[in-house]
Amino acid sequence: MEVRHGEEGNRGWVFDGQLRNEPVRLLDLSPDLVSWVIGGENSGGFQEHSRVEAVGGEEAAANGGKIGKKIQRVEALVVISIVTDRRQIGIMESGDKSNRQLQRALCYSDVEKRDSASPSVIVIGGGTAGIAAARALHDASFQVVLLESRERIGGRVHTDYSFGFPVDLGASWLHGVCKENPLAPVIGRLGLPLYRTSGDNSVLYDHDLESYGLFDMEGNQVPQELVSKVGVTFESILKETDVVRQEFSEDMSIFRAISIVFERRPDLRLEGLAHKVLQWYLCRMEGWFAADADTISLKCWDQEELLPGGHGLMIRGYIPVINTLAKGLDIRLGHRVTKIVRRYNGVKVTTEDGRTFTADAAIVAVPLGVLKSNCIKFEPRLPEWKEAAINDLGVGIENKIILHFEKVFWPNVEFLGVVAETTYECSYFLNLHKATGHSVLVYMPAGQLARDIEKMSDEAAANFAFTQLKRILPNASEPIQYLVSHWGTDKNSLGSYSYDTVGKPHDLYERLRIPVDNLFFAGEATSTEYPGSVHGAYSTGLMAAEDCRMRVLERYGELDLFQPVMGEENPFSVPLLISRM
Ligand SMILES: Cc1cc2nc3c(=O)[nH]c(=O)nc-3n(C[C@H](O)[C@H](O)[C@H](O)COP(=O)(O)OP(=O)(O)OC[C@H]3O[C@@H](n4cnc5c(N)ncnc54)[C@H](O)[C@@H]3O)c2cc1C
Repeated sequence: MEVRHGEEGNRGWVFDGQLRNEPVRLLDLSPDLVSWVIGGENSGGFQEHSRVEAVGGEEAAANGGKIGKKIQRVEALVVISIVTDRRQIGIMESGDKSNRQLQRALCYSDVEKRDSASPSVIVIGGGTAGIAAARALHDASFQVVLLESRERIGGRVHTDYSFGFPVDLGASWLHGVCKENPLAPVIGRLGLPLYRTSGDNSVLYDHDLESYGLFDMEGNQVPQELVSKVGVTFESILKETDVVRQEFSEDMSIFRAISIVFERRPDLRLEGLAHKVLQWYLCRMEGWFAADADTISLKCWDQEELLPGGHGLMIRGYIPVINTLAKGLDIRLGHRVTKIVRRYNGVKVTTEDGRTFTADAAIVAVPLGVLKSNCIKFEPRLPEWKEAAINDLGVGIENKIILHFEKVFWPNVEFLGVVAETTYECSYFLNLHKATGHSVLVYMPAGQLARDIEKMSDEAAANFAFTQLKRILPNASEPIQYLVSHWGTDKNSLGSYSYDTVGKPHDLYERLRIPVDNLFFAGEATSTEYPGSVHGAYSTGLMAAEDCRMRVLERYGELDLFQPVMGEENPFSVPLLISRM
């Protein structure tokens, strides 16, 4: 590998730790580059054992002036950033844990060095929250490196193109199609079209009642009147659970509260087909929380804030939003973080393969499930209240089994559903044909059912979904392609999204968000207002970035020199493009 001064731009990384075992020849040496390479007075940091081989040493020594010695073989390199505009490197990566110079870089010991150094941040996790935070800090002139464990960005936003058109295996709705939605400026500016699946009026239904086609297990369609009537009953039952909530000081599950309502109000109890339809509504509620009704907290289930404007499907997939936000960022894919060490004025982050990165602060934007699994070690340990929040907040599972058919053979409704005696046996399919024109149905199991299906092979899972479809449409033709998500067992997510479990307070989201020293936390599970959503994740990314900016710059005494983190600038309001057929 040969590196010239100025190659790859003077602003960015010249090369990085992947070259650790490869000799590097430095050509066209200039004072700036040399000073960074050889560990002189002005150095960014290399020492004796590096595999960097510098050529042209005599000349460099002459040019470099300050260095005053011949370049020799140097060692322990890993990342170099050249700075020609007087801004020194902010983040360093090292493969050598004993590199004293890198350790020194953690605590800027002299004032001059500190003043000329760029504030630096490591963002861990390249989902919506991490990308939003990295974008905001990058735009506020911070040195930012984002470490992402997967070989792709987006996290639980995952648009797949293998069918020849976009389909989302993770998030697909913008919940709250309105200008108050933090994501509206990005989506509006990109001109991404949305398909409205419901209006404003409900927490639970991201589809209007009239757009359902429900069937029993024998394939008989449930009369639309009954679907609407049971919908109204379900809303009455939920209202009655509020009375139960007022009466009982102890929390209980939403399932238990509904049982109490039935004891008190036998008129709300339904029989036969109506009972099955009611189970189906409950099954939809479980899908909203990605959890079974007997684990959802009565006290907290409706505490999230719902933005107005209804629910809009991202017709071209969600990933363009992420790609736009990620443009120009320094993102390291395949970097799974395993350890985070925090000290008074710096952090050191280690990845699975032993690379280390140091910076002024870090933003932890990995999923709650990953934090729960303890696969990232914090040193010192996180405070007890933070660990308790991680343990106590629930994380549920919802998956998608996406079936692609040669042609459409199902009714022209937005949602097809199977009603049954229990929520576990109920199921539903999103008809993407209505929104996108593609002959695709998306089966979405949640809670225990999703957990059970994740144990199957992809083929068996697709067969399972198809069998459900055959129950209601016996003449269904076989899918030509399928995709199956595994959000519960994928070690990069370990769950689909967070929810309130029984007996735990709703302020756990806030406790999860609150920074610990120079560690800041972002992600859907840190959003009190909009947990479990993309716009929630996005807004926590911006919040963490702003908190981090303030904290780091206060310490530098340079608060006035850097712009505030504003999120997406929106000089004029672009209306969102939403339609419905
Ligand atoms: C099936 C499904 C459907 C959904 N539907 C919707 C919807 O329609 N609308 C909506 O608003 N929301 C929906 N959501 C929720 C939404 O997708 C999430 O709330 C949001 O995307 C979370 O973003 P995040 O940045 O918090 O986390 P993620 O997107 O999960 O990002 C975290 C990142 O951290 C990375 N990571 C993990 N461990 C490490 C590590 N050790 N080191 C480095 N990186 C690591 C991960 O790979 C990931 O990229 C859905 C979710 C699922 C699963």
